Amino acid sequence: MQFLGHPVGIRGNEEADTAAKAGLQLTVSNNTRIAATDYTADVSKLCHNEWQRSWDEQTTNKLHSITPTIGTNKSLEQVTRHESSVLNRLRFGHTRFNHFYLLTADAPPGCSSCNCQVSVRHILLECVNFNAVRDQYFRTTSLEELFDKVSARRILDFIKDIHLFHCF
Ligand SMILES: [Zn+2]
Repeated sequence: MQFLGHPVGIRGNEEADTAAKAGLQLTVSNNTRIAATDYTADVSKLCHNEWQRSWDEQTTNKLHSITPTIGTNKSLEQVTRHESSVLNRLRFGHTRFNHFYLLTADAPPGCSSCNCQVSVRHILLECVNFNAVRDQYFRTTSLEELFDKVSARRILDFIKDIHLFHCF
């Protein structure tokens, strides 16, 4: 048996090898060749757009009115370093507010309107004093959902609006 030229497999390997040497290029629809490292950002943007598009179609989803733009909670939002650390303290319950009462061994103040102890949870979700303001920013009954679904901006603006930002 005699081969005329290379068997297909070998030629395929050579082409792959040539492509590898050329720096891993892709040929896109308009015949422009782009390096692999150049398109990862575009692919990630495309995925995000797809995700947003399907989210936009879910107009009956109640969470949609609260978080109309997805995937922006942590990375793309304009949150200062200080705001971000306040938010983390709220999230993990390690607030200056809590620490102060632990250190002084005094009982935390009670909320006279609700007749209960003031806590981060009480302020963020429960206190009737803030119901009207809270309703403008979010509506949820769990801290988990609050930090998961509500944008950082809204949570921060809420605690600023009720003048408690500097307590945390
Ligand atoms: Zn209260």
